[in-house]
Amino acid sequence: MNLAKQVKQAGVIGAGGAGFPTHVKLTAKVEQFLVNGAECEPLMHKDRELMTHFAGEIIEGIKLAYKAVGAKKAVIGIKSKNRDALKAIRAAINDPAISIHEFGDFYPVGDEYELVYGITGRHIPPQGLPLDVGCVVNNVETVYNIYKAANNEPVTKTFLTITGLVKNPVSTRVPVGMTVKDVLELAGGPAVSEFGMMESGLMMGKLVTDINQPVTKTTGGIIVLPADHNLITRYSKTQKEMDRIGHSACDQCSYCTELCPRYLLGYDIQPHLVMRSLGFNVTGPQIWNQYALLCCQCGICTLYACPEALYPRETCVKGIQNMRESGGGKWEGNKEIKTHPMHDHRRLPLKQLMNRLGVTKYEAHAGYSETRPEPDKVFIPLNQNVGAPAEAVVNKGDVVKKGQLVGRIPADKLGANVHASIDGRIADVTDTMIMIERNK
Ligand code: SF4
Ligand code: SF4
Repeated sequence: MNLAKQVKQAGVIGAGGAGFPTHVKLTAKVEQFLVNGAECEPLMHKDRELMTHFAGEIIEGIKLAYKAVGAKKAVIGIKSKNRDALKAIRAAINDPAISIHEFGDFYPVGDEYELVYGITGRHIPPQGLPLDVGCVVNNVETVYNIYKAANNEPVTKTFLTITGLVKNPVSTRVPVGMTVKDVLELAGGPAVSEFGMMESGLMMGKLVTDINQPVTKTTGGIIVLPADHNLITRYSKTQKEMDRIGHSACDQCSYCTELCPRYLLGYDIQPHLVMRSLGFNVTGPQIWNQYALLCCQCGICTLYACPEALYPRETCVKGIQNMRESGGGKWEGNKEIKTHPMHDHRRLPLKQLMNRLGVTKYEAHAGYSETRPEPDKVFIPLNQNVGAPAEAVVNKGDVVKKGQLVGRIPADKLGANVHASIDGRIADVTDTMIMIERNK
C-alpha cells in the first residue's frame, strides 16, 4: 500500500489547526516538502517539545513524505530560540535532502504564506495553495503521524501544552476525545477557582465554552487564564457587540492594516476599509468589498494593532462569510504580489505581543512529560477535519479496541477516518460524536 493510502486509513489530518486531510497533500507532486515547526502562538510549546523528544520519528516521517510527493528537498522551519529542538532535529537528520531553516521569534512566522515566503522567497498566489509555488506544508505533529501511519498506527492521540494558570504547566499527549476537564488534571488543575480557557492558542485559538468538551486531533493546547482577563472578556463578546463598538469607535487610523502581516507580505488586504462597512446602515453585497478576502485570521489587528480595542479580524471573518453565502468570495483583485518595503521592519516580536496581551507572567517552560492518562470515557467527534464528517461504523454496545476504526470517510468525499482512542464499549453514537466508556 502506498503512503497516501496508509495515511488515509490512519486518519491523519493537519495537526497545526486547520485539519486538512493529509492523504490529499501526499498525492501531489512538488519540488519542496516544507515542515512547519515554527510554533508562534504565545505560551504554546508542544511543537518545540515534540521536536525535542521525537526528532527521530519526525525525520523518518519527513523522509517518507518528501519521497512520496517527489520533492527534491525537505526543509523544516524552526525558531532559533528553540535550541533543544534544533539540536535534536539536527542530530536526527540522516539525509542530505533534509535541512533546517531558522526563523526569528516573531508572530506569525508559522502562517503558511509567511513560512513559504520565509523559506523559499515565493509568494503563494492570493487564495492559492503552497502547491501553486511547488510546495506542500505540513506541521511537525502531522509528519510524526505520517511516520506512525506508515507503521500501521492510526491517530488516537494528540500532543498538547496545558499551561497558564495551572499548577504544573506541561506538554504531553492524550487520547483524542478526552475532556478538557480531565486534561486539566494532568497539569494539576487550575490554580484559581474563577477561570476561563482558550484552546490551541490565544491568537488563533477558540474560547473553551464547556469544560466537558473533548480535545480533538487538532487541539494544540489548553491555556487557563483568570476569568476576568482581558482576552477572556474580549473573546466572550457577541458579533453584535463587536459590530456596535466598531461602528461607533473606528477612527480609520489604519493601524490594523499597517501592521497586518499579510498586507506587509504584499497582499491587498486592508482591514480598516472592511471596518468602514460597519458604518453603513444597509447590509448585503452592495457594501462588501474584497479587502477582507486574504485574511488569515492571525488576530494582530484585533489583539495588538487597534488602539481602540476594536475587532477588525472578526469584521473580516464576517465579511468573508457573508460574501461566500451570497455566492461570492473569489479574489478578483491584483494577483501580482510585491513585498511591502516595511515587511522586515514591522514584524511583531513575540515578547512584545505577549506584553500587549498581558500574558508574559504566565509564560512557563511546560516541558514534555509522558503522563499516560487513562480517562474513563472519551467523546470522539466525527468531524475533526476540513471536509465531510466521518460516518460511524459502530453501534451502541459494541466492544472496541484502541486503534479500531469507528468512523469512516463517506464515499467520494474529502474527509478523515476516526479511530477508538481507548479500549472500551460504545456508550453512545450521535450524528456528531461517538462516546466510548473504558472497560472496567
Ligand atoms: S486600527 Fe482600529 S480604529 Fe484604527 S482603523 Fe483599524 S479598526 Fe479602526
Ligand atoms: S487577522 Fe487582521 S492582521 Fe491578521 S491577516 Fe487578518 S486582517 Fe490582517
